[in-house]
Amino acid sequence: MTAELLNGREIAKAYRAGLAEEVEKLKAQGITPNLTVVIVGNDGASLSYVRSKNKAAEKIGMSSGIIHLDADVAETELLDTIERLNNDDTVNGILVQVPLPEQISEEKVLEAIAPHKDVDGFHPTNIGRLYTGQRTFVPCTPLGIMELLKHTGPLEGKDVAVIGRSHIVGQPVAKLLTDAHATVTLMHSRTQGMIDKLKHFDVVISAVGAPGLVTGMHLKEGAIVVDVGNSVVDEKLVGDVDFESAKAVASYITPVPGGVGPMTITMVLNNTLLAAKWHNGLE
Ligand code: NAP
Repeated sequence: MTAELLNGREIAKAYRAGLAEEVEKLKAQGITPNLTVVIVGNDGASLSYVRSKNKAAEKIGMSSGIIHLDADVAETELLDTIERLNNDDTVNGILVQVPLPEQISEEKVLEAIAPHKDVDGFHPTNIGRLYTGQRTFVPCTPLGIMELLKHTGPLEGKDVAVIGRSHIVGQPVAKLLTDAHATVTLMHSRTQGMIDKLKHFDVVISAVGAPGLVTGMHLKEGAIVVDVGNSVVDEKLVGDVDFESAKAVASYITPVPGGVGPMTITMVLNNTLLAAKWHNGLE
């Protein structure tokens, strides 16, 4: 078997075209969705990630801004900036790029963002709303993974292994998969004999950041493979899955780059559109 490529770039492009139409309709009603990203310091990877979010927002007709603060900024100044954005009616979505310098508490900052502008879905209120089935911003990477999986058929009845239990990927995607009636096993660094267990699963989602963790020989014939991992090896971005060997066994597989990554940015835009609609009392 040679797997079909789950091409995140293509799927994201089509999804963003739909979002652009929605933005157009909002603009006709005098509403321009705005995404504002706050970045602290000059880390090259973070800066380029922020710029790409910014460009993506503008490409679908949203307005967007970057607030760039010095690496040695005081925590109080960053919190004041967030407060100002919370109170600015022209701003619908606020993102603070992480990691933050050590003088700043990431937890405090993420909690300072007003939940109705928290388009990353990391605020404790929004996490609670997700787990209690209320309307909320679903974290972008898990939401993007679910969108990719729509292209592989129904999840109901499937056995899914999620490797990695972080609050931003593993745990929320396990929740979304459970809601979609899949049966989920959440694996992590303490899971005994993890790699040998993978053969039992119809879907494997790896969100670890360990290149070569999963190879074709670990997978069930026809498995669906979603590789969330991002690591840099020899200056190249690679995932957790050995793509060539896995492709020979899987039915669907995401590449790295060009799989989950473009979907994550797309879901930031999706959530910003929702924020603008909800702010204006629209569904
Ligand atoms: P994280 O917070 O570091 O979590 C990593 C998880 O992997 C932890 O739960 C850890 O287990 C588990 N783990 C580590 N080594 C393992 C092993 N050998 N076997 C099984 N599980 C193992 O990372 P994250 O923020 O979730 O990100 C995970 C990866 O996804 C990273 O490479 C990140 O760059 C990437 N990522 C990509 C996107 C995208 O848009 N493409 C978005 C977000 C993240 P313990 O809990 O036991 O420590």
